[in-house]
Amino acid sequence: MADAEDRSRLVVLAGPTAVGKGTVAACVREQHPDIWISVSVTTRPARPGEVDGVHYHFISDAEFDRLVAEDGLLEWAVVHRAARYGTPRAAVEDRLNRGVPALLEIDLQGARQVRRTMPEALMCFLKPPSFAELERRLVGRGTEGPEERERRLATAVTELAAESEFDVTIINTDVETACEELVDLFRSGVSRTRS
Ligand code: 5GP
Repeated sequence: MADAEDRSRLVVLAGPTAVGKGTVAACVREQHPDIWISVSVTTRPARPGEVDGVHYHFISDAEFDRLVAEDGLLEWAVVHRAARYGTPRAAVEDRLNRGVPALLEIDLQGARQVRRTMPEALMCFLKPPSFAELERRLVGRGTEGPEERERRLATAVTELAAESEFDVTIINTDVETACEELVDLFRSGVSRTRS
């Protein structure tokens, strides 16, 4: 296997629900096509406008089970008690071995798994400017009902406490700036701060 130094950088972007991870990742996708963004598998149905193979690989429960059984996922988790999400292992390994910078946008449970299995990964925590702003974004996007929103906000409180587990924090005050700060992590000599 290639030495960690020979492989290109893997950055993991995680953070609380509704902080805007998806929007920041979309900005990277649009403005920095040189950075490869992993396409996760999920058992949740596609939302309007989502394209299979682009936003996610939408798969059945049986297909997900098969991937887990054959160790085909680098990490996986049940997110918001609703559906399973996972990162296909082979695609990530392939990019890293070919020297392509790779970004994973995943939830906190998944980030913790990657931190254990790929210690060379740079762990980046995306944080809202304030809790009030997080609440405003969750209400504003209008994709969840009041009950689900309350549940996600409660989860967010716990999730915000995970910041210290990460190497770097980016505050998502505006998407463009957060996107550039994230891209800089691939270029700069920022190193792991975890022990
Ligand atoms: P959504 O259903 O809104 O697209 O995503 C819900 C959550 O799932 C987000 O927090 C997102 O970061 C997380 N997620 C997306 N893909 C993966 C993955 O491959 N693994 C894990 N652990 N979480 C993921």
